[in-house]
Amino acid sequence: MNYRSTRDVSVNVTSAKAISQGLSSEGGLFVPENLPKLTEEKIKAMCEMSYAERAYEVFRLFLTDFTDDEIRHCVNSAYSDKNFATENIAEISHLLTGTYILELWHGPTCAFKDMALQILPYLLTCSAKKTISDKKISILVATSGDTGKAALEGFKDVEGTSITVFYPEDGVSVMQKRQMTTQEGSNVNVCAVVGNFDDCQNGVKAIFTDENMIAELEKANTVFSSANSINWGRLAPQIIYYVSSYVQLLKDGELNFGDKLNVVVPTGNFGNILAAFYAKQMGIPIGKLICASNANNILTDFINTGIYDRNRPFYTTVSPSMDILISSNLERLLYHLTGEDDKLINEWFGKLKTEGKYEVNDNVKASLKEFFYAGCCDDKQTKDTIKKVFDEYSYLMDTHTAVAYKVYEDYKAATGDTTKTLIASTANPYKFGYAVYEALGEDATDIDEFELIGRLEKLTGTTCPKALSDTKDKEIRFTGSVEAKDMSKVVIEFINK
Ligand SMILES: *Cc1c(COP(=O)(O)O)cnc(C)c1O
Repeated sequence: MNYRSTRDVSVNVTSAKAISQGLSSEGGLFVPENLPKLTEEKIKAMCEMSYAERAYEVFRLFLTDFTDDEIRHCVNSAYSDKNFATENIAEISHLLTGTYILELWHGPTCAFKDMALQILPYLLTCSAKKTISDKKISILVATSGDTGKAALEGFKDVEGTSITVFYPEDGVSVMQKRQMTTQEGSNVNVCAVVGNFDDCQNGVKAIFTDENMIAELEKANTVFSSANSINWGRLAPQIIYYVSSYVQLLKDGELNFGDKLNVVVPTGNFGNILAAFYAKQMGIPIGKLICASNANNILTDFINTGIYDRNRPFYTTVSPSMDILISSNLERLLYHLTGEDDKLINEWFGKLKTEGKYEVNDNVKASLKEFFYAGCCDDKQTKDTIKKVFDEYSYLMDTHTAVAYKVYEDYKAATGDTTKTLIASTANPYKFGYAVYEALGEDATDIDEFELIGRLEKLTGTTCPKALSDTKDKEIRFTGSVEAKDMSKVVIEFINK
């Protein structure tokens, strides 16, 4: 299995190269040249397997240049109960008949990013050995909050690597900031940026292709790589929990083989929902892919009209991990929906760069409608949903999951579709404690973040994960903040330290 670039189909590289490089040199994203199929027999056989074993079965189809031992080492190191608070790794909660919550936040940083970032360092160091053996790897991350912490936890003290994380100064939750600025490890660096997530992401992309930087790197015998979901090594692990969920529901007797399962995903950079699309293309009987957005509803508009237009206000919301106007992984979807037409992708993404806007053709519009449903909700609706679900089911959702739940309710009302449905729950509610506490009708003004944890526990009878409450006693190690234009200086300084 080799990998192409969305902007140049003549590019043809191994998975090790795609993962160690992150982004193709002409700016395209790496995509598998075809999507391997999982047969009915294989899917059924997976019922008796652990999460790590299911992961192995999926990875061996995509990482054909890895040895079996290498893949086993990666999956066993990442998906063990040492790193995850639940043996199932991805836990399914049954909210009501036919509606399942896929809890993807039982990893060390309490957000779904752990599902991929616990394994990425293993995939990356293994890939690097095959491709750039003597060089050090410098990971650059732009984060809207959760990726940063998950990447730091994944890469801390991993030999031959170092990691720099940039986050928007006022764009992350109090707990997210605390998690990142208290990060331990000898190879980590964290810096705030005066700007929003898109500024961070653009800054990182610019550093990747900056001539000066490349010269500095040569001197330090280092190469850049990315832990953002533009990296195939981030995306592939996300396919696994959709495969595993279907298998688990089959095993639990909730589904018969072939029954459709809708999937609802609270979406930002389009990585998570794209992984569900890939699982469907591989033969998992997934029905509608329901794309849920917050007030930054550029994807809702795009899926409904075929016009992607970023010329619009940017909102800071209570679901900050979805406060994004440029969803990078959409490029991969469009590459597939156009029948791998790199010319169209160049045309559209060129327009996005120059005019901030593009419109897809009628074929793609029809495919978008066929595969997806899209909806959005604002902060008030998000909070109302948290309260309503808690009152009705005693189930406490975070703000992102609540967006997904609300859009799913709208979907059911609009379509009458009663297909069984899996809602991706992307973060533990304590990561966004203030908003969740307020959603339950309480006043959070002037309450210290740890006092808040105690109150939320008392109010809801739930327990804050230790990984979050423990940050209280940790030293704040990173206090720096820079203008977006100065991000490269931070990187150079750190590399030469
Ligand atoms: C990253 C994130 C999202 C968005 O996921 P994408 O793959 O970027 O679409 C949603 N919710 C939470 C909690 C996240 O951390």
